[in-house]
Amino acid sequence: MTHKVLVTGGAGFIGSHLCRRLFNEGNEVICLDNLFTGSLENIRDLNGREGFTFINHDVTEPFDIEADRIFNLACPASPVHYQFDPVKTAKTSVLGAMNVLELGRKYHARVFQASTSEVYGDPLIHPQTESYRGNVNPIGIRACYDEGKRMAETLFFDYSRQYGVDIRVVRIFNTYGPAMLENDGRVISNFIVQALNDEDITVYGDGSQTRSFCYVSDTVEAFLRMMEQNSFAGPVNIGNPAEMTVLELAEKVIAMTGSSSEIVRRPLPSDDPTRRKPVITQAKEKLGWQPVVPLEQGLAETIAYFREKLQK
Ligand code: NAD
Ligand code: UDP
Repeated sequence: MTHKVLVTGGAGFIGSHLCRRLFNEGNEVICLDNLFTGSLENIRDLNGREGFTFINHDVTEPFDIEADRIFNLACPASPVHYQFDPVKTAKTSVLGAMNVLELGRKYHARVFQASTSEVYGDPLIHPQTESYRGNVNPIGIRACYDEGKRMAETLFFDYSRQYGVDIRVVRIFNTYGPAMLENDGRVISNFIVQALNDEDITVYGDGSQTRSFCYVSDTVEAFLRMMEQNSFAGPVNIGNPAEMTVLELAEKVIAMTGSSSEIVRRPLPSDDPTRRKPVITQAKEKLGWQPVVPLEQGLAETIAYFREKLQK
């Protein structure tokens, strides 16, 4: 069955992959984005085609779009971008959530929230299960994002309990792939762009902090499975449990690009989580999902993307 699908943040990194997949499967897609960190370049192949509509709009301002499925992705995801205007980031998460949930209420749409592993903060249990309530510093520099996303989850569950809105909530762990911005500021894009330019690779702190990286096609597959199953609302962890240190990642990127870059140390930003790895038992059992793209393959695709982009 096909749907009329609204994707907020649809011109961003994950959003553009999601829009393409939804469109290619025959859905009518409306992409709403204010182009803060997204770009029309990301949806160039879709824009102007019948069944695809782009709307330049800010989710903090009210909007009225009829749809039966809503994916709410609008929110800058890179620390550099969400810390640029922290008050705006909090508004985007909270008012954006309310605005899509009101549409869900009005049109009886199913509403999906792109939440984040950041709701666990700097986790005190490892690896992270959905039942863990997190360790977030509410007054730190990451709080505009972490607490904004936590409040958005609260709103989703309250709209479900209070108004019967049909919700789905996923907690995404670090996702990477083509369509990330060159100046996105996140670790994989930074390291690849630095390596391809033979510039220093900037490892923050001693590089012993860990992350678990999931390729974007795996993440999008999980979104679609979560949206179309009828057994639970979430929250469900979506990520790749293959954990590695930031230093290991730097070495892998240098090896895979054949770069002459050197690793340099930069100060560790405050509240930078020391460890992160998802438990994905729920996703496996309830969605029949697990990541299938190995890191080497995903990195190769991402390196090829940036190589081409940097040559333009
Ligand atoms: P991104 O920055 O590439 O995409 C976000 C999109 O939202 C951009 O197109 C941006 O222009 C748009 N946007 C931002 N503020 C907006 C506003 N006020 N109104 C309308 N549009 C707005 O980031 P991404 O990595 O594609 O992340 C997409 C979603 O997934 C975000 O909600 C993010 O929090 C969540 N997420 C991503 C990751 C990850 O590793 N990529 C991890 C956890 C959660
Ligand atoms: N990081 C780094 N060098 C960079 C960018 C990031 O060492 O140029 C580190 C960062 O301190 C963090 C990890 O890589 O420990 C992942 O950072 P990212 O911004 O990609 O995502 P998040 O911290 O939100 O997981």
